[in-house]
Amino acid sequence: MARNLGPQCRLCRREGIKLFLKGTRCDTAKCPIERQGRNNPPGVHGWRRSRDSSYSIRLREKQKVKRYYGVLERQFRGYFAQAANQKRNTGAALLSLLERRLDNVVFKSGFTVSRRASRQLVNHGHIYVNGRKVDIPSYLVRPADKITVKPAEKSAKQVTEQVQINKGRPLPAWLSLDEAAPQITVLAMPTRDDVQIPVEEHLIVELCSM
Ligand code: SF4
Repeated sequence: MARNLGPQCRLCRREGIKLFLKGTRCDTAKCPIERQGRNNPPGVHGWRRSRDSSYSIRLREKQKVKRYYGVLERQFRGYFAQAANQKRNTGAALLSLLERRLDNVVFKSGFTVSRRASRQLVNHGHIYVNGRKVDIPSYLVRPADKITVKPAEKSAKQVTEQVQINKGRPLPAWLSLDEAAPQITVLAMPTRDDVQIPVEEHLIVELCSM
């Protein structure tokens, strides 16, 4: 699956918020969003304020969510179509689907420093779901799923060390983490409240429904 390989900080600067794409650097003073004079949109015309149209406001909300979860347009459209088929609020269903991605779950549980690193961990076959190797970052977890690390010394050591480093990171209520194993258990489906970035999902629904 294609992915965005460009500079990550530019994506945050474009959206004007921290999307936490670069791991530990995001929590330091080196983050451009924190630095005075660098938190403007990227490019030579970044400082020039353009008037926001209703379309551009909606587009920015969509791009923000896509960049946060690391999905490109085609895949995002697939998630939207899936959410629109559900008998509940489309925006909430869309965010719930994105939250359930295996790379997101691995990142949120502290196995890695960023979603990009989680994606690589999954892609390289280090993650098992219910005892079977799953190397698809977009795999959607379900309640009662148990996510573990490949039973190889190198994989387990790498993840265990990272879990210890990320110990203070808040864990979403729909996941449970056994740090010693390490093992993640999915307790429930994620809800709208589990999405940590500020997003007005109804604007995305309006844009994608046009
Ligand atoms: Fe870069 Fe992370 Fe700051 Fe975003 S949050 S601008 S990725 S350092």
